[in-house]
Amino acid sequence: METMESVLKKYFGFSAYRPYQKDVIEKIMERRDCLVVMATGSGKSLCYQVPPLITGKTGIVVSPLISLMQDQVMALKQRGIKAEFLGSTQTDRTVQSRAESGGYDLLFMTPEKACSIPVSFWTKLLKIGICLFAVDEAHCISEWGHDFRLEYKQLDKLRPVLSGVPFVGLTATATEKVRVDIINSLKMKDPYIAVGSFDRKNLFYGVKSFNRGSAFLDELVREVSKCVAAGSTIIYCTTVKDVEQIHESLQVAGLKAGIYHGQMGKRTREESHRLFIRDELNVMVATVAFGMGIDKPDIRHVIHYGCPKSLESYYQESGRCGRDGIASVCWLYYSRSDFAKADFYCGDMQGENQRKAVVDSLMAAQRYCLLTTCRRKFLLEHFGENFPADTCGIIPAGNCDNCLTERKERDMSKEAYLLMACIQSCRGSWGLNMPIDVLRGSRAKKIVEAHFDTLPLHGLGKNYSSNWWKALAGQLISRGYLIETMSDIYRIVSVSAKGAEYLKSAGRDHQPPLFLTLVDEMDE
Ligand code: ADP
Repeated sequence: METMESVLKKYFGFSAYRPYQKDVIEKIMERRDCLVVMATGSGKSLCYQVPPLITGKTGIVVSPLISLMQDQVMALKQRGIKAEFLGSTQTDRTVQSRAESGGYDLLFMTPEKACSIPVSFWTKLLKIGICLFAVDEAHCISEWGHDFRLEYKQLDKLRPVLSGVPFVGLTATATEKVRVDIINSLKMKDPYIAVGSFDRKNLFYGVKSFNRGSAFLDELVREVSKCVAAGSTIIYCTTVKDVEQIHESLQVAGLKAGIYHGQMGKRTREESHRLFIRDELNVMVATVAFGMGIDKPDIRHVIHYGCPKSLESYYQESGRCGRDGIASVCWLYYSRSDFAKADFYCGDMQGENQRKAVVDSLMAAQRYCLLTTCRRKFLLEHFGENFPADTCGIIPAGNCDNCLTERKERDMSKEAYLLMACIQSCRGSWGLNMPIDVLRGSRAKKIVEAHFDTLPLHGLGKNYSSNWWKALAGQLISRGYLIETMSDIYRIVSVSAKGAEYLKSAGRDHQPPLFLTLVDEMDE
C-alpha cells in the first residue's frame, strides 16, 4: 500500500509536501469537498494528482484548455502515472472503455465533455471508484472572474450524478466574490478551503505612464535591451497591432524577439513558444493568448504595454516571472486612453452582471496604475489578503516603485474638496476636463452655455495647472473618491459614495485632512 510520503518520492521525486498540499490531500481522502486558492506556481496540481495514486481509484480533472491537458498528461505518463485525455475523436472510444474499467489514475477532459458524456459512463466508473472530481481554473465558473466560461456553469449537473465524490476546485484567483461563486456553483458542501498567500516576495512591481508614438517606442526598445541582458522577458500588449509594432521595433534593434497572438496559426505559435522556452528567443511579444501553461522558471521581466483588463489577469500574467524565486521585475506601462477600453473587453457580452464585472475589473486596474502608495499592499488587499505594513519589500527600502521613490505628502484636503465639489456641481455627464476648466476659470463656449461660469466654484482653482488637477484626480480615483466610467466613447467622472461621504463631512471652510502624494506633475 502506497502512503502519501512514498507516492511523493516515487512518482514526483520530492521529499516533502508543501503544508497546504498535505492538508488538502488528507481532506480529499476523507471525501470532503475542497477549494484550493493558491498563487500560480504554488503546486496546486499535486493536490489532485496524489490521491488516485494512494487509493488506486480514478481522479477526474476538468480543465479549460486541451493543449494544457495534453502537456500535463504527457508529463504524468513520463512519471509512470496512468493518465489520459478524453476528447471526442475516434480513438477516444478506446480511452473511454479503458476508463470505464478503471484503467486510469487520472482522466482529463473539458467541461463540455464531462457534461455531455452519457450518465452510464459515470455509473460504470463509480462502481470501480472515483476518488475525486477536480475543476482546474475554477474561477472560469464565476461571472465575477476574469475568464468566465459558460460551459463551466453546467458542471453542477454532475453533482447528483457523482454524489459522494469529493469536488475539488482549484484557482489562482482569490477575490471573495469569485470564491463564493465557485462554492455555490459546484454546490460544495462544507468545503475545506485552503487559501495561500499571494505575496510574491521576489517580484518588484512598477508602473509608468506613456504616450503612444515613436519616441516612446525608442525608449521601450532601450529598456527591453537592458531587460534582455538579465534574462528572458515577456512583453504583453492589449492588441495584435501593438504586438506586431513592438516586435518589429525590437527586431530592427537586433534583439532576438518572438511573437505570439491568437491570430497566428497553431503551428507557428507553438514554434514561437518552443523557441522561447529553449532560450533561442530572449523576448516574447504577445497578447494574453500567450498564457496558461508557460512553465518557464527563469523569466526575469514581464512588461505590460497597456493597462490590463483586470488585476486578476495582471497578477497572473506578471506572476509568470521569477517562478524560481530569484528577484524579478514587473513593469506596467499605461496611457490614459487604456482606461476607456471597457467596451472593447465586453465584446458582445449581453448580461448586465457580466458587463458590470468587466467595468469594475478595469476600474481596479486603473486604480492600481494611478496609485502613489505601496503597489504590493494594494494588490494583496484586492485579493482579500491582509497586508499590515505600509511599505513592502525584502529590501527594507521596499520592492515596488512607490515604496522606493521618496516623495513628499501634503494635506490636499482643500484642493480635493474643490475638485469633488465641482464635479458634483457640474450636473450632467462630463469627463475630467470640464470640472477642471471650470475650477480654472475658463469661459469657453461650452462652459458659458451650461452656465457653469456662474457656479460659486468657478475660478477658485486657477492657481494650479490643468495637469496638476489631473494628477490630483488620478490620486482621488486610485483612493476610491472618484470614479471614471465610460459612456459610449467618453470617459465620465463622478464622485463615489466614499467621495460623497467626504464632501458631507466637509464644508467650504473646513475639510478633514486628506494627505496625498506630491507626484512629479505637481512640482510646486
Ligand atoms: P500551480 O498549478 O499552482 O500553478 P504547479 O502544480 O504547476 O502549480 O506546480 C508548480 C511547480 O512546483 C511544479 O514545477 C511542481 O513540480 C513544483 N512542486 C509542486 N509541489 C512540490 C513539492 N511538494 N515540492 C517541490 N516542488 C513542488
